[in-house]
Amino acid sequence: MPSQNTTRQHFASDNYAGVCPEAMHWFLEANASGHQPGYGDDEWTQRVCEQLRQLFQTDCDVYFVFNGTAANSLALASLCQSYHSVICTPVAHIETDECGGPEFFSNGSKLLIAENESTSAKLGKLTPDAVEQLVTRRADIHYPKPKVVSLTQATELGTVYSVEEVRAIAAIAKRRKLKLHMDGARFANAVAALGCEPADITWRAGVDVLCFGGTKNGLPVGEAVVFFDKALSEDFAYRVKQSGQLASKMRFISAPWIGMLQDDVWLRNARHANAMAQRLYGAIKDLAGVRVPHAPQVNSVFAFLPQPAIPALRAQGWKFYDFIAGGGCRLMCAWDTTPEAVDAFAGDIRRACAAA
Ligand SMILES: *Cc1c(COP(=O)(O)O)cnc(C)c1O
Repeated sequence: MPSQNTTRQHFASDNYAGVCPEAMHWFLEANASGHQPGYGDDEWTQRVCEQLRQLFQTDCDVYFVFNGTAANSLALASLCQSYHSVICTPVAHIETDECGGPEFFSNGSKLLIAENESTSAKLGKLTPDAVEQLVTRRADIHYPKPKVVSLTQATELGTVYSVEEVRAIAAIAKRRKLKLHMDGARFANAVAALGCEPADITWRAGVDVLCFGGTKNGLPVGEAVVFFDKALSEDFAYRVKQSGQLASKMRFISAPWIGMLQDDVWLRNARHANAMAQRLYGAIKDLAGVRVPHAPQVNSVFAFLPQPAIPALRAQGWKFYDFIAGGGCRLMCAWDTTPEAVDAFAGDIRRACAAA
C-alpha cells in the first residue's frame, strides 16, 4: 500500500474537501469579536439571512441546520402530517441516504417512489407524468395521501433540471395541491450549470422550500433551509430546536456563508467543480472498456469501469464510490479539485483499464 499522502485529492465525495478561504476568513472573523449572542441572535446570522433574501430576490424565511439530512428531514416534516406521502425518485438522497430521517421526523410520512423506466428516471429526474401517475393511482383512504413532491437539484446522478422542467413539475404539483421541496445539496452546481438566477429555478418556478447546501461547496458545516412560502415555516424554529439542530454558537455556521455569498464565491466554487468534472469526463470517456452513460452536467462523472480496474485504482490509493444510484463508479469533483489531480487520476484510470 502506498503511504497516505495528506495533500492527495480524492474523488469519493465533495465532502472530502476542506473549507474555502473566504468561508474560513469569516469563521475567524466571527471568533475575533469576543462575546456575541447565541442561537442566531448575532449580527452575522441576521446579515446572512438578509443576503439570502437579496440573492433570491424575495422575502423568504431562512434557518440554519448542521447538515443536509436534517435540512431535508425537517423541511419535509414541516410540510407533512404523518399520514401524508412525499413523491421522489428511487435514487433520491431522502430515500437512500438519510436513514429514514424524513419518515422519522414527520412521524411516519411515507416516501412514494416514482418507479419508471423513462430516460429521465435513468438520469435521476422526476417527470410530470410520473408525479401524475402516483397522485392519481389511488384516492381512497388506505393510500398515504400525496402531499409533497421532492426534487433534487442537481440530481444524485449529476444531472440538472432545466427551469422548464422544474416549472412543469410544479404545475402538476400545484394542480394536485402538492407542495414542492427541493433538495439543493448541490444547488450551487446546478445554478452554475444553468447560468440562471437562483430565483428562476426556485420560487419563480414554484418551489416552496429549498434546502440550500453549502458544505459540499466549501463551508465547514451548515445548510440553509429557505422557505419561499412563509406559511409553511410557522413553528419551524421549534422543530429545529427539538431535533437538536439549533446551533448554540450559531455565528460559526452563519458567518462563513458571508464569505460564500460575497463576490459570488459560491458560484465560482461550483463552476470550478463542474469544470473539473468536464475535464475528467473528457479524459476518460473514450477509453476502451470505459462507459460513461451520460455527460456530466455538474461536478460528478458516472463511469462503468472494467471490474479489475476498480480494486487496482483503490490499491493505488484512490478513493471513490461504486455503489451510488446504480451509475457505476461515481467520480466526484470538489470546489478545490486541481487540474493536476484530475489528470493524475485520469492517467491512472487509463493505465488500470488498459491492464484490465
Ligand atoms: C450530500 C447530500 C445531502 C446531505 O447529506 P448530509 O451528509 O446529511 O449533509 C442531501 N442530498 C443530497 C442529494 C446529497 O448529495
